[in-house]
Amino acid sequence: MTVDEFVSRSHILHRSFTESPAKVIAGDGINLILEDGSRVIDASCGPSVSCLGHSQPEITKGIVSHLQNDIAYVYSGSPYTNGATEELATMLLANKPGGLSKAIFVNSGSEATDAALKLAVQYWHEKGQPQRTHFIARKQSYHGNTIGALCVSGHESRRAYYKDFMSSNVSFVDPCYAYRMKHDHESDQSFVDRLARQFEDEIIRVGPDRIAGFVAETVSGTTLGCLTAVPGYFKAIRDICDRYEILLILDEIICGMGKTGTMHAWEQEGIRGPDIQTIGKALGAGFVPLSGVLLHEKIFDSLSTGSGGLAHGHTFQAHPLACAAAVAAQKIISQQKLVESAKSMGKKLEALLRKEIEPLPLVGDIRGRGLFWAVEFVLSKEHKTPFPIEANFCSRVVKQSLEMGLNILGNLGHTGEYQVDHIMVCPPYTVTDGELEEIVAILKTAIIRTSQPFT
Ligand code: PLP
Repeated sequence: MTVDEFVSRSHILHRSFTESPAKVIAGDGINLILEDGSRVIDASCGPSVSCLGHSQPEITKGIVSHLQNDIAYVYSGSPYTNGATEELATMLLANKPGGLSKAIFVNSGSEATDAALKLAVQYWHEKGQPQRTHFIARKQSYHGNTIGALCVSGHESRRAYYKDFMSSNVSFVDPCYAYRMKHDHESDQSFVDRLARQFEDEIIRVGPDRIAGFVAETVSGTTLGCLTAVPGYFKAIRDICDRYEILLILDEIICGMGKTGTMHAWEQEGIRGPDIQTIGKALGAGFVPLSGVLLHEKIFDSLSTGSGGLAHGHTFQAHPLACAAAVAAQKIISQQKLVESAKSMGKKLEALLRKEIEPLPLVGDIRGRGLFWAVEFVLSKEHKTPFPIEANFCSRVVKQSLEMGLNILGNLGHTGEYQVDHIMVCPPYTVTDGELEEIVAILKTAIIRTSQPFT
């Protein structure tokens, strides 16, 4: 079908009006099966979602059994709860990781970000400091597509149309983007000190008693490409937040739930944890739409001794069927020790990327953790020169890979001046050695072919 035929016949408004998407009819492990019978390796799990691959009979069984034996829908604003939602929250929070003790389940990551921001504001109201409504976030960040989430997202092209809606109560500091921002010969510690000083200066400029929270992805996902912070960065941020009593809100919607080799990415940052954390994507492993907000007990205490309720809610909040599917997914992850697998298979993926991809002439940086990796492309390796936006290099790599049966995620990073041209490789926790080798081999050929006109 031509693009024009597809666009005029389909009643679905696909994101691109210039492409005719192929129909996926089934999934088999890491593979998508298309209508024409061909297989595509889904090496990025969509946008890092399908962390158990595309076929998991136990999850299907869990969903069907829930519908047969339990209740499909219970309104979270009613005086009722349900077993699946309670079970999921208990699975996540029984050990109170970092003092996180309560969960709210919503449908999308953007809703989770909005809920996190609103909870922070409500917290300060309950504490008698209603003037604390300002958030500090980071440039080139992405926390979701709803207006609230976009307000704290520094992603320039996603904000562009909606700038008139954006709150002026948000300001941005630099991300911990060592590849471009750490000076030659600068130590990690000096780089951290520089970023910490900038954060503290911004707090003082705004006024500490006006600030509700600081928002950051623990490992940046689609904008900066699986960007881990340099050691000590989050410790410095946590300390400053504590000193000025600012809530630390960590977005682990894309990087959390095991992907980096620990259940929560912040566990590897030497901090006690965030005050509010968002989770999503791998929570339901893509079998259902589900995201969540995890709250430190101090937030809950303040709300419960204050107004005694949430000033926030959605019709489909804490949806029982979605929670039942996530319970089944999280049981598989725990029983099969798949977080540990993400760590060990991640080491193999890193070794392959460093051996096969890093030496290629237009590859500037390889970064990530666990099974969450990105490759950043540059026109000049020596000078780290970004491609002009119109070159759209990463999309060319994505297209080239697809022609060879490999689906990877192209960048969404955009500073306004240049694209952070990258692709992401984040295969399911169940990935095999052979699949990793095949992914990297196809990717290498795709990058070499795409590079030809530029070298
Ligand atoms: N936060 C991060 C870090 C994300 O990567 C995303 C989505 O990619 C979101 C929030 C928004 O999630 P959703 O697309 O489910 O609304």
